[in-house]
Amino acid sequence: MDDKIKLIYDSVIARNPAEKEFHQAVKEVLESLGPVIAKHPEFAQHKIIERICEPERQIIFRVAWTNDNHEVMINRGFRVQFNSALGPYKGGIRFHPTVYLGIIKFLGFEQIFKNALTGMPIGGAKGGSDFHPKGRSDCEILRFCQSYMTELYRHIGEHTDVPAGDIGVGGREIGYMYGQYKRLTNKWEAGVLTGKGVAWGGSLVRKEATGYGAAFFVDEMLKAKGQSFDGKVCTVSGSGNVAIYTIEKIHQLGGKCIACSDSNGVILHEKGLDLDLIKQLKEVERRRIKDYVKYHKDAIYKEKGNIWEIPCDVAMPSATENELNGKDAAMLVKNGCIAVGEGANMPTTPKGVDVFLNSGIAFGPGKAANAGGVSTSALEMQQNASRDSWSFEHTEERLHQIMKNIHNLCFETAEEYGEPGNYVLGANIAGFVKVAKAMLAMGLV
Ligand code: GLU
Repeated sequence: MDDKIKLIYDSVIARNPAEKEFHQAVKEVLESLGPVIAKHPEFAQHKIIERICEPERQIIFRVAWTNDNHEVMINRGFRVQFNSALGPYKGGIRFHPTVYLGIIKFLGFEQIFKNALTGMPIGGAKGGSDFHPKGRSDCEILRFCQSYMTELYRHIGEHTDVPAGDIGVGGREIGYMYGQYKRLTNKWEAGVLTGKGVAWGGSLVRKEATGYGAAFFVDEMLKAKGQSFDGKVCTVSGSGNVAIYTIEKIHQLGGKCIACSDSNGVILHEKGLDLDLIKQLKEVERRRIKDYVKYHKDAIYKEKGNIWEIPCDVAMPSATENELNGKDAAMLVKNGCIAVGEGANMPTTPKGVDVFLNSGIAFGPGKAANAGGVSTSALEMQQNASRDSWSFEHTEERLHQIMKNIHNLCFETAEEYGEPGNYVLGANIAGFVKVAKAMLAMGLV
């Protein structure tokens, strides 16, 4: 890291103690910025990096609700509105027991640059709660979502801050939160949330978008190497929304996904995964992935297994942060993996990223590779603003073009800064420069 930038990083750590995921995300971006500051001294003079590392607004609140046993439950709610230089704050809401301020700030910080890369007019934010949805009844989820929105509604709006889903928040939760927002404001304000049901203002392709986008991004990286998905063996960690639609698009593009996972274990099905079954188990019945082997006797379930041990051509970590470490990365490279695309946010540890970059394989970082979800959210906002709804084909074509543009922007930026093929550098610099220029133009914001 550049010496002057290191001082900024040290002060971020001192000002934000005990938020290790936030430190990790900041470090990863700041390590790329040395050549940018050399080229643009005005960014240093106006303290753009210092300002970008400080969220514009952080909201922390109590979420009280009752469980089905009539007990009072208390969780903590968050919304970190990180940067609005390019548009209204935009980013998902995560419900997971690991959520605390450091997780929301890492996600919000990543979201600033990811959203900038999309080329859409959206700022960066993230929200969530340490609420654990697993095993909760539908009524409990409803009561929690209503209580969460009863505080959040005063901080958001179609021109202010537009939340969406993330881990633990899908179509059902967005529906409950939208219903509560509508009651509290007495307004039909479709553009306040994205990921809505298609019958009431949602966009076709939004559900598929993060996974489809990640597969499109990897397809572009493969093409840049003169390759394609055709006949490639792939592993995709996770079995949630991102993993499911990554697998679907890879299959459409001619690849074969042989493994997926959840937090308990790994499914290996050499014949190729049965995606209809995974959708039924996960989306409809909300069951664990181990039940897959009840329907396919030739598949293997490995409790607490490591999916990265399985030899593959393409690996797509699509579960959660820091799920792929240095050892895993070395194993993938040794086993012949040629491309890795991050469907999740920051799934590869810094050591893992180093291994991939040094090996020369194609590595697509999350803030570029998984930007398809938020891009399609921005397309949903466009449809809401014009009171229109687009066809699946048109929306998917828009998404595809956006992913190609993001790929090319990262690729060309890496070349421009003398590190061809380094998508991490390309994504960080291209995203940062867009936000930095907007902040400069707006004065002391
Ligand atoms: N949570 C998703 C992400 O990490 C989507 C955010 C959105 O659609 O606003 O990008």
